[in-house]
Formats: sequence, structure tokens, C-alpha cells
Amino acid sequence: DPMPNQLTDGLPLAGKVFAVTGGARGIGAAIVATLNARGANAVAFDIDPSAAPAGSESITCDVTDEASVKGAFESLNAKYGRLDGIVSNAGIMLEKPVADTTLEDFDRVIAVNLRGVFLMAKSALPYFRTDMPDADKPRIVNVASELGHLGRPEYSAYCASKGGVIALTRALAREFAPGILVNTLAPGPTDTDMLRAEKNYDSWVKDGEGIPLGRVATAEEVALAAAFLCGPDSRFMTGTIVDVNGGAAMY
Ligand code: NAD
Repeated sequence: DPMPNQLTDGLPLAGKVFAVTGGARGIGAAIVATLNARGANAVAFDIDPSAAPAGSESITCDVTDEASVKGAFESLNAKYGRLDGIVSNAGIMLEKPVADTTLEDFDRVIAVNLRGVFLMAKSALPYFRTDMPDADKPRIVNVASELGHLGRPEYSAYCASKGGVIALTRALAREFAPGILVNTLAPGPTDTDMLRAEKNYDSWVKDGEGIPLGRVATAEEVALAAAFLCGPDSRFMTGTIVDVNGGAAMY
């Protein structure tokens, strides 16, 4: 069968190994749980693994630090001896007018949200097998944001970092084709600690203002899209931006 149905006892990711940055909390923790529910071994690469849900596996990793990222992949490889995908989800928010944003602030946001995505992709390459059948090709799934499409006042550094993730995804997809599939999620507001810390949370964000589906996303709803992009059903998708935003107009 040239296009085998990849379901293995209903577990489409059985035996596969994934690294999920920022996997200790929020969207990342939901991605770890969702991949594991589909049979994978998903491991959080997080700067603060102490926050990870009980029973999930994590490795301490700072995505801004090359030695830390390399070390995390070495630990993962020592335990599992294979790598099927990475989800670059770690990110930080900065809500500040430009006049108050220091260059250190700007550089920090870019270092985590954009340079970290590049470093993860580069560091994963030596562990990927690029001769896999279509449905099993290694995956890179990046987590950008609707603010990678939109300009929002007082979010300049964050918008720039997420726009960069979208552009980087498109470039990596072409460079790594045909062996590795690279896609990005662009979530809208999602109910996590990051969102709850936003200034507008109580005034309009939590009520889903401007979202046709009438509310913000749950972390699990974003994780379902991540699992699709990690799994066999997305075998012919690369370089795409998948909006998970309840229908908010982006284009
Ligand atoms: P969160 O703050 O709840 O969790 C982020 C996780 O990333 C934490 O576990 C944190 O320890 C980890 N992390 C931070 N810096 C790190 C570093 N240098 N190295 C490794 N790990 C690090 O955030 P979240 O809401 O779950 O966001 C996850 C991703 O989704 C981020 O990239 C964020 O920008 C993006 N996003 C979030 C929303 C939203 O509304 N929550 C919307 C769109 C996009």
C-alpha cells in the first residue's frame, strides 16, 4: 500500500518522539498531553520544568542558549535514540509602548520568540531522518500568533518576533523540503497565564470580543491543531500558517 493508513491501534503517533519547547505550562503543556494521548513520547524542553503537570516528562532547556538546547537534544537522544518532531512553542509576551521599550527588552523578546525557533530547528536537524515515508516525515511545528499577521499598539517587539516566525517557517519549509515538513500555528487569544497577564484581559480579552466564535481558545484547542501538524494526516502540508483563532479576520 503506497499510502498506508497510519493508524496504529488508534494511536497515530505511537512510538514517535517529540520535543516541545515551553512544554511545562499553558499551550505547550497541552501539546505534550495531546501528543502523548496519541501514543507519542513528548518531552517538554522548558526553562522552568518545575511547573510541568505531574507525570509529564521534561528536560531543562533555555531556547536562547545554544549549549542548553544542544544538551537537551543530547539527553533526549540518549534516552530514546530517535526524534520525529519538534514543537517550538516557548514564548514570552511584552506589552509596552515603543517609547518605554529598551533595546534589552526588544532583544529578549526576539531571542526567545524568534531566535529560539531558529536554534531549535538547526539543533534538531542532525537527529532527523530525511528518508522517511511521507506520513512519517519529521515535523517542525512553530507557534507564532495572530499578532504575527496583525499590528497591535504596544506590542511592537512581540508582533515583530511572531511575524519573523511566520517568515522563518516559510523559508525553512522550502529549504528542508522534501524530507522535513515545517508549519506554523497562529493562535488567537488562548486562555493561559500569558493571556491572563494582559492589561486588557478583564476589559475585553476574556469575553472574546471580536472573535466570531465568541470566546478565546483553550490551550487544548490549540494543541489539537499542533497534533494534526505532527501527525500523518498533514503529510502534504509544508510552509503553511494555520490560524487557530475562532474566525477572527486576518486577511
Ligand atoms: P505561558 O507563559 O503560559 O507558557 C510559556 C512556557 O514557555 C512556560 O512554561 C515558560 O517556562 C516557557 N519558556 C519561557 N521562556 C523560555 C525559554 N527561554 N526557554 C524555554 N522555555 C521557556 O504561555 P502560553 O500562552 O502557553 O504561550 C505559548 C506560545 O503560544 C508562546 O509562543 C506564545 O507567544 C504563543 N501564543 C499565545 C497566545 C495566548 O493568548 N496565550 C496567543 C498566541 C500565541
